[in-house]
Amino acid sequence: MKKLVIIGNWKMNKNLHETQEFLSDFEKEYLNNKRKINKKIEFGIAAPFTNLFLLKDKIFKSVAQNFSNFDSGAYTGEVSASMLKDLGVSMVVLGHSERRQYFNETNEVVNKKTLQAIKENITPIVCVGETLEEYEAGQTKDVIAKQLKESLAGVEDFSKVIIAYEPVWAIGTGKTATAEIAQDICSFIRENTSKKVVIQYGGSVSPSNIEELMSQKDINGALVGGASLKADSFIKLLTLNK
Ligand code: PEP
Repeated sequence: MKKLVIIGNWKMNKNLHETQEFLSDFEKEYLNNKRKINKKIEFGIAAPFTNLFLLKDKIFKSVAQNFSNFDSGAYTGEVSASMLKDLGVSMVVLGHSERRQYFNETNEVVNKKTLQAIKENITPIVCVGETLEEYEAGQTKDVIAKQLKESLAGVEDFSKVIIAYEPVWAIGTGKTATAEIAQDICSFIRENTSKKVVIQYGGSVSPSNIEELMSQKDINGALVGGASLKADSFIKLLTLNK
């Protein structure tokens, strides 16, 4: 089996107590299902900043949902890469459509953060994807090409980044891109970046569709919101619903 990187994106969910509960459930489920989880699957959880310290030294990667493109200094409310590294964070989700939509994160900002992540040895998971309007107007590839060009400007070694294709119309809606659409766009992303880049699909991935999506040639993993919030469902993603 090819290598897969499956990351749960908790968004702004779970307080400390709920995170502890998840971790204890996850540990039990993991031990019960260990044989079914392929060693080639790398997995992690993108938790809110306040819970990341609980994820340190666990069996999964600790992932941040954002960070500052500045090193340190007078940037009230921001969290730096080095602060996250102290907590054991090894990956960061950047340019998620919710950040682009609600916090005005542009390709230019995503690019600064991507370069900062590479400099700090944190793997950026750079999200790209078209809106429903753009999808219906047949603009998907143009939109993705622009997001890739601008968000990844200056990236030289594509083995240091992960790209997540997340059609905005499929996020949290229960509508998944068909495996054919997801494969077509992921293959387009590969052609426009590098053969060696890890490409995830995200958008209503669940235990019932993960196996088909992950079997597509150019899909190397998943970024999963809703289905990562419960330990039993997250484990089913890791066993590819076996
Ligand atoms: C996401 O948050 O990146 C996501 C894909 O969410 P969901 O799986 O709930 O659609």
